[in-house]
Amino acid sequence: MRALALIADRKLELADLPAPAPPAAREVQVRIKAVALNHLDLWGYRGMAFAKRRFPLVVGAEAAGEVAAVGANVTAFKPGEPVVMYGALTCGTCKACREGRDNLCENVGGIMGFHVDGFARDLVNMPARLVIPVPAGVSLRDAACAPIAFSTVQHMLFDNAKLEPGETVLVQAGGSGIGSVAIKMAKAIGCTVITTVGDDAKADKARALGADHVINYRTDRFEGAVRKLTAKKGVDVVFEHTGAETFNGSLLCLKRGGRLVTCGATSGPSTTINLMQLFQQQYRIIGSFGASIRNIRESLAKMAQGLAPVIDTVVPLADFERGLTRLESRQVFGKIIVTF
Ligand SMILES: [Zn+2]
Repeated sequence: MRALALIADRKLELADLPAPAPPAAREVQVRIKAVALNHLDLWGYRGMAFAKRRFPLVVGAEAAGEVAAVGANVTAFKPGEPVVMYGALTCGTCKACREGRDNLCENVGGIMGFHVDGFARDLVNMPARLVIPVPAGVSLRDAACAPIAFSTVQHMLFDNAKLEPGETVLVQAGGSGIGSVAIKMAKAIGCTVITTVGDDAKADKARALGADHVINYRTDRFEGAVRKLTAKKGVDVVFEHTGAETFNGSLLCLKRGGRLVTCGATSGPSTTINLMQLFQQQYRIIGSFGASIRNIRESLAKMAQGLAPVIDTVVPLADFERGLTRLESRQVFGKIIVTF
């Protein structure tokens, strides 16, 4: 079978590997059809000092496919069924796992495609408890965006920031994979959405997704623009993932008692914050990473109701690296999908 592996930092190789053994008991073998790219892939590709891993490492952290075979004691799946997979090897038995807080597993075995072999291969065996059925009417290309992009946003906006209909939300980098999802999810429940983009072409696209106000952060200070748009009140929620460059500005955009939820630091990991401002304004800052299996089911249900991901580009497996370069260039609007 084909497998795309990282053999050194910034070096990918398409290898021909033996197919995996038939699925063991309580396992499902999945034939991968689509892998979606995330910034996580870019971090892995560039090499990160803190990530313990061994080369060669099969890449791909987010994917969809079809059940190829099932092991003994698997009754929930049949060959041919469309599925997605939870991308972290959780234990399934610790307190967090038992309570459905999968992304807080105490014995996680690693993130697939980052610490351990990922999904960019023809066949993969997975524990059945980490496999989630794709509802009718959702394409595998779209479903591939559920395990990370959609579910991360679902977890951030609804589990963590407790976004309510009628509230105002600032979505940083509305053209990014998760930013575009956040705009659509917030609009779908009747929020007012303000978003930032880096150029005017992206501004038009963000408006087409439903954003009520779009700020070009290269020509306008977004903090000032948000204060103006909200009559100096500020927003209820900020959806942050861009990091050091924007974090303090994002805090300034919050109304008193507002919530900032963040899942990324693309522009840098460190900043200083004003503690007086933090407690006087009663801000809530919430860190978010990954999602639960429930969030993936919720994401797929939203897709089945018509909330489709924004697809920037679809490339074949051989062009995985070109997809990563495009992601790195920030020219992208929406998700990049690699098909098999
Ligand atoms: Zn666990």
